Order: sequence, then C-alpha cells, then structure tokens
Amino acid sequence: MKHAITIHRKKKFNVFFDGQPSSDVQVVDATGMIGVCPQHFRLIKPKVVVKVGDMVKQGQPLFFDKKNPQVYVHSPLSGEVKTIEYGHQRRLEKIEIMPDATIDPLQFQPVDIESLTIAKAKSMLLERGLWHGFSEHPFRTIPNPAETPPAIVVMLSNPEPFHPKISAVIDQVDHDLVTGIQVLKRLTEHVVVVVDANEKINCDEISSMAKVVRMSGDFSLFEPASALYHLKDKVEENKSWSCDWHTLVNIARTVKSQQFFPQQFISVGGNQAKDNRHYCVTKGIQINQVVTKEDPTNRIIFGGLFTGLHCEHVPYLPLGVSAINIVDSHPQPEFLSFLQPGLKKPSFTTAYLSGLLKAVNPTPTSTALNGSERDCISCGLCHDVCPVDMLPQTVLRNVAGNDIEGAMAFGLLDCSNCSVCTYVCPSKIDLSARFQEAKDALYLEVTAP
Ligand code: SF4
Ligand code: SF4
Repeated sequence: MKHAITIHRKKKFNVFFDGQPSSDVQVVDATGMIGVCPQHFRLIKPKVVVKVGDMVKQGQPLFFDKKNPQVYVHSPLSGEVKTIEYGHQRRLEKIEIMPDATIDPLQFQPVDIESLTIAKAKSMLLERGLWHGFSEHPFRTIPNPAETPPAIVVMLSNPEPFHPKISAVIDQVDHDLVTGIQVLKRLTEHVVVVVDANEKINCDEISSMAKVVRMSGDFSLFEPASALYHLKDKVEENKSWSCDWHTLVNIARTVKSQQFFPQQFISVGGNQAKDNRHYCVTKGIQINQVVTKEDPTNRIIFGGLFTGLHCEHVPYLPLGVSAINIVDSHPQPEFLSFLQPGLKKPSFTTAYLSGLLKAVNPTPTSTALNGSERDCISCGLCHDVCPVDMLPQTVLRNVAGNDIEGAMAFGLLDCSNCSVCTYVCPSKIDLSARFQEAKDALYLEVTAP
C-alpha cells in the first residue's frame, strides 16, 4: 500500500541552514562513565529503583515513571551505579554508571512475533524498556500501557536540521525496520509509515505490511503531529501513537539478540560543529567523545535546530535524543552592516537579500534573537507557514487570555510544536513555547488524580 501526498501551503518554509552532517557513519563506543539523563521526557515523574554502589546489568531497570508505573528506563550497559543526581524540586538529573564488561547483560526470553497477542506484545515491550520510544497524541506523552492505539504513525524521515538521515544507515537497519513493524502490527492493525519523498530508500517490503506514505514538503510536515493531522481519517485517531525509526531499530535488535540494544544512531551538525557526520554510539555516551565545543559561548542543542533542547550542563547524550547541534550564540556584527546588501542576515521575509535567496543560500545559524519580543502586528506569516492550518496569532490571544477552550477551538491540540511560526514571527514571539506550556498545563489538569 503506497501513497504519495504533497501538502501545499501559502508560503513554503524553504530556509536552508549551514552545518549539514555528512552521510559517513563512524562508530564510537563509550570509553568511560555513561549517563542516563531523562531531560528529553517532558511530564514524567521518575522514581529511581537503584542506589549508588549497586552493580546493574545491561537491560536492568533504573527508574520508572510514577505516572505510568509499568514504564521503566533500563541501563544501556552493565556496571556500577556511581552517582544519582537530582536537580530543582528533586527532579532526576542523571544516573552515572561506570561500565563493567565482566558483568553479563540481562537475558530476555526469545520472542515469537507471530504468536504475540496485544497483551503479550505490550508486556514484552515494557519488560525490555522499549515503551518510552512511543509518544501519544495530542499531548506527546509516553502512552498509558492500559490503552491500545487506534493507529501508530512511524516516521522514517525527519528532515529537520540536522537529524540523522535513515538513508545514511539503511544498509544496516533495513531488516530491523521490517521486524519493528511486525511487532507494531501486534499492537494495532493500523500502522502508517511516513517517508520523505526525497529520501532514497526502498519501502517495498514495508508496504506489504503497512500503509506507506511518501510525503513532500518542508521539515515541519514531518513532525509526527503534523503528519497525523494530514493522515487521520477518524476522530479517534487524534489519540494515535507515533514513533520514529530509532524505536523500530531498538525493538528489532532487542527482540533478535534477546538483550537490551546498547547503541544508537545520531548525527552531529550545526555551523560550529567540527566533525559533522553520522555516528553509531553507546547510549548515554559522554558528549565530549563525539563533539568538541571549541568556543565556550557556542550552544549545544540536543535534537533539531527548531525543536531541540538547550541543556547547558548535561555531559551525556540524553535519553531519546538522536541529534546534537552546535550553533553560534554570539554572532559578530557585520562590519558597516548598513552598507551590506543583507546576504548574511537571517530573514524569512524579503526585507533583506538573504530572504530572496533563502532556498539556496545557507542561512547563518545562531541562537541570537536580534531584538526582543514585541506586540503582534497581525502580519499573518505564522499562519502562512503553519503545517496544521492553525491561526497561531488567534490561538495566542486565547492562550494569553487563559481561554483554553477558545484556543482548542482554533486548533491548539493540533499544534505539532514545529516552531516554524516562532522562527518567522517578526515580533519575536515564541508562539510554539506558549502553545507547549498551554498544552502541558491542560494535560496536568485532565490527568490530575
Ligand atoms: S502553531 Fe506554530 S508550532 Fe504549532 S504547528 Fe503551527 S507553525 Fe508549528
Ligand atoms: S507572525 Fe508574529 S506578528 Fe505576525 S501574526 Fe503571527 S504572531 Fe503576529
């Protein structure tokens, strides 16, 4: 089952950034301490089940989510728990483990995928620490294991700058994708696989098992909530789950080897990174084994340039993160800038020459705001680029007035938090962050005991 869709919008978000990773893949194994850092998981309440000095096995549970007590996070390698660090309001910051190769990994029971019932498939994924690879819409939380997904959307592509490209590693993972989808099919009949039409991968085998959609458009359409918005047929599918190809690889390799899969593929990009390429690394590896931050003012973004997290003091690759971007945070002002044609000024509109050439001329990436937030001028740019046809300025007014029902009526729950509205807004309003905060507050309200 193959489908192709092209989604047209008033204005294409056709900005091109410098710092793209090459498609080479380098293997880097952890040589020292590793760390399990849960910063990427919003809205979880970790409860640690190990203590300092414990010897743990690869695949042994380290903590669970108090909101979903069956969902555990497992240790990537065997070793000794060296530190458990808590931050603000005793929120878990990191668990450090010194690997010890003399301790055998935890061995799981062999799995016959064809004979798995829904209940057995769920308990297999939970027992092997694979559950947190799924996200439930519309709040993008880890799904409750008691629920069954109406559909699962699998994203094989994430063209947001700069995430790993599956085409760079397809020779190593093509069988894993098939096995992973076989397992998902035990959870729901309705599995939809989304691939960028520009990604050169053969999906013939996958299309014999699931609906494959080749989508054309900019990266914001490949945020799982944006894809779901365009693909869903029924209202129940608003609560669909999504996952990416890394989850399929984790499932397949853990099922095949009967041991927790301790590695992952990542990319390193950004205009201040030195070795921009793909890597296969140990989960929880020390960041300085793969990137060098030569200028201390540069900023490390865990995840894509638009949707990633800036965590200043996280020395290990956080859980669930597959990209590291290093970008300039203090760009030097252009010499006599009023005499320059504006080729290097980041601009989405045509106010500067760079805005006319944005599809071919790399935009210099930086985290500088170049000014502060101002009032909305109702220019409508945020609506023109929104991949889910929202009216962000109207939703913003409702959110600011604490009218969440009004915001929902204008599509708040469809927002994929792709952040392109934030990028294009000439008034520098962080719309995406405001919508995320409003959705998080709503989630906490509807799930309060
Ligand atoms: S409102 Fe903004 S963040 Fe949300 S989907 Fe639209 S463009 Fe993306
Ligand atoms: S882009 Fe910014 S200024 Fe323009 S309508 Fe949207 S919120 Fe208002």
